[in-house]
Amino acid sequence: MTVRNGREFLAIPGPTTVPDEVLSAMHRPAIDIYEGALVDTTATCLSDLRRVFGTQGLTYIYAANGHGAWEAALTNVLSRGDKVLVLASGLFAMGWGEMGSVMGVHVEVLPGSWRRAVDPDKLEQRLRKDTGSEIKAVLVVQTDTASGVVNDIPAIRQAMDAAGHDGLLMVDTIASLATMPFEMDAWGVDVAVAGAQKGLMMPPGLSFNAAGPKAKEVHKSADLRTRYWDWTFREGDVHYQKYCGTPPEHQLFGLRKALDMVFEEGLEQVFRRHRLLAGATRAAVAKWAEGGVIEFNIEAPEHRSNSVTTLVMSDGSDPQPIINFCREECGVVLGIGIGALDSKAIRIAHMGHVNAPMILGTLGVVETALQTLGVAHGASGVGAAAASLSGELASARDAHADAQGRASMSLT
Ligand SMILES: *Cc1c(COP(=O)(O)O)cnc(C)c1O
Repeated sequence: MTVRNGREFLAIPGPTTVPDEVLSAMHRPAIDIYEGALVDTTATCLSDLRRVFGTQGLTYIYAANGHGAWEAALTNVLSRGDKVLVLASGLFAMGWGEMGSVMGVHVEVLPGSWRRAVDPDKLEQRLRKDTGSEIKAVLVVQTDTASGVVNDIPAIRQAMDAAGHDGLLMVDTIASLATMPFEMDAWGVDVAVAGAQKGLMMPPGLSFNAAGPKAKEVHKSADLRTRYWDWTFREGDVHYQKYCGTPPEHQLFGLRKALDMVFEEGLEQVFRRHRLLAGATRAAVAKWAEGGVIEFNIEAPEHRSNSVTTLVMSDGSDPQPIINFCREECGVVLGIGIGALDSKAIRIAHMGHVNAPMILGTLGVVETALQTLGVAHGASGVGAAAASLSGELASARDAHADAQGRASMSLT
């Protein structure tokens, strides 16, 4: 007997749950690609993406997954023989760097840990030694979806400035855009990369670049440029150039809807919702950890991301039975460990189109699994999650009541 019938809940860190509104927006016939509504959709999506990235720079939409946007970013600003510095904090920046090495870019890795955020002081020390400006770009992820870490991008920028380094700062926001603040211009980021299927609630298949003025300058002489990814070609006047071929129309209908939903809720509120649901998840995990078997992969609370929480087993056991139980008996699909955490981790995503019942339900299912399988854990994690959420919501209600009180006083 199981209780999995009904809608399966996907709690992996991408692709994430696609809202029905987005799916419906995509369910329609193809339209003209030369003129009319689609041209306008392209223009508004490009400009709304600038708003999401926090930039006055230019944005580009690729019919590709995140790996495509990685390749796009590298080819547009680098030349053969250039050196880049990859800041390790898990799996994903490393993969981005490897892509560069296949293209003839020299890749140096600033060693890091799968359990901690990038250390800006170590970056500053390394860059101070680069007196000949050999390093052309620094590559880092904002959130590493494998380790569950969040890196402090403004602190990384400050480290580059403190070292007086003039390389480009290139940031992968694939798992963080529209889940937490990202301010490309204010933070001094030169190139940002994102995908549609995580915080932006879309089916996989679209990804993005955003380029600031310094990146556009370097771009002019980059010799890795290819036609398909080329920013300049995509800035051409003809609509099909924006996609270097047939626009991915249905993906664009979906993206338009997803962006509308983000702005309707309000970016600040989207961030707050993620922060509260991540806080509830962390409260549950902290309680379970009292059993001495489950622990956070990321050691410091301030380095834990608001889009995904990665748990590991302190005795090194394989958590696969827990993951199987959640899927097969209860219809919740958790993320498995990947890279260095292969067969060692559980990842609970709380990213994109998620709300309290989805996350509290997921946590309840994990706790049911721990109980059924006899995994030692502190209880109740779900109670701790509810208490965390209740604390946050109660203080927001108080603040709202205070503000209303002040407003009515000023009226009288
Ligand atoms: C998912 C992810 C990627 C890869 O994106 P794909 O769409 O699978 O190519 C890259 N970086 C981060 C941080 C991610 O979370």
